[in-house]
Amino acid sequence: MTAREAGHPIRPLSSGRPKLTVIGTGYLGATHAASMAELGFEVLGVDVDPVKIDALSRGELPFYEPGLSELLRKHTGAGRLRFTTSMEEAGVFGDVHFIAVGTPQKAGETSADMSYVTAAVSAIAAAATRNSLIVGKSTVPVGSARALNALAQQHKRQGVRIEFAWNPEFLREGFAVEDTLRPDRLVVGTDSPEADRLLREVYADALSRDTPFILTDFETAELVKVAANAFLATKISFINAFSEVTETVGGDIRTLADAIGYDARIGRRFLNAGVGFGGGCLPKDIRALQARIGELGLERTMSFLDEVDKINLRRRDRVVHLVEELLGDMNGKRIAVLGTSFKPDSDDVRDSPALDIAGRLYTAGAEVCVFDPKANENSAKRFPRLDYVDSTEAAVSNADVVLLLTEWRTFKDMKPGDIEDLVKHRRIIDGRNVLNRVDWENAGWTFRALGLKVPGRLADVS
Ligand code: NAD
Repeated sequence: MTAREAGHPIRPLSSGRPKLTVIGTGYLGATHAASMAELGFEVLGVDVDPVKIDALSRGELPFYEPGLSELLRKHTGAGRLRFTTSMEEAGVFGDVHFIAVGTPQKAGETSADMSYVTAAVSAIAAAATRNSLIVGKSTVPVGSARALNALAQQHKRQGVRIEFAWNPEFLREGFAVEDTLRPDRLVVGTDSPEADRLLREVYADALSRDTPFILTDFETAELVKVAANAFLATKISFINAFSEVTETVGGDIRTLADAIGYDARIGRRFLNAGVGFGGGCLPKDIRALQARIGELGLERTMSFLDEVDKINLRRRDRVVHLVEELLGDMNGKRIAVLGTSFKPDSDDVRDSPALDIAGRLYTAGAEVCVFDPKANENSAKRFPRLDYVDSTEAAVSNADVVLLLTEWRTFKDMKPGDIEDLVKHRRIIDGRNVLNRVDWENAGWTFRALGLKVPGRLADVS
């Protein structure tokens, strides 16, 4: 190591604040890039997908996230935020390189596909023309950051110093901008004082509001992210397991959740019984965690997550069974599906319970008419044969049964009178427990919900 390598702090070549790159400009990366520009940094977003980069460069967001389009347009317009497919350009431009590429579930396996992260880290390490910091934000199996740091050191240019940190991301789709600009905590795993210093500079705005900054080692930082997701998934499956109980014995799952939620040690959030979790994070993250822990020889330690996953997937079966009970043979029956995104205020349909259910009903012979306020296009890429329409009214028109599967506000606010003259039969399944059952039953609807005992269908417990 030369004296310059060892002693030269990572300082921007130009005066002023460090220049940032964000490698991978999907849901996480595009949000991070635009939010960092909003905080006053010069940012360069990098992706291997030229179509995405062209759209972002024109200020067009290729997905839906509240408030993000406005930030993107503002900062691409001002020239503070640019996009490229060139890693070389990023290597010349940046002092801090954020890695935000995908870590999807491997095809046919439960472990995470690390090939995108490995490629991105090696490429930026090789491209960096001056001392710089690589910061991983993607969700990775424990042990990855240490190995990726070693990889970066192998690929870096002679005379260039690369510092390394892992800074997991906790943003929620639907609140991504707010969560990035005002995070509830910052977690940084590193053994580098330079990385610590630079990241405190990058996150100075949040730190000025006393946001907790948790400086730790690589392993803890990696585990914090997957532990948080495993906990949230468990909480959802916990209440959904009780749904299976109330479906059998009776009782009100919403009141149960409210009542235990008043206990501050438990809390009410993430206790909404329904079709379960989905999206690009929770399902694959709990599977990857189990896979990684298994590789470490600790198979039994996380085996409860297998049950969490199974409870979650059984909720989808339950909706299909409820439809079968109501309709009998599904051939030729018309089913209205309201909502296909995995959660409201997002167009993300990755592992979406709603879209999975819609596809299964189609496969069973039904004519499935779908409306999602933002996710029709993404849904059609996965299930082109469903009938996509542009309004609730068009979706429910002549329906034998209506399914509310994603709790967009427009569906939550729906009243029986809004649609009762449009449907063929007044039957509704509330897959998110957001409608008022009494109102619907009083209006003459057959009402079903997850966690609700079907009247006269299952044996009473005496
Ligand atoms: P995404 O699929 O939307 O985006 C990933 C992007 O990386 C794509 O645009 C892809 O083209 C690009 N990419 C792949 N290889 C590349 C390479 N070598 N160089 C440059 N770009 C490359 O995924 P996402 O939802 O943004 O998730 C990214 C990571 O963040 C994952 O690990 C995920 O678990 C984690 N995460 C996501 C969220 C979320 O809400 N989406 C929240 C927290 C953490």
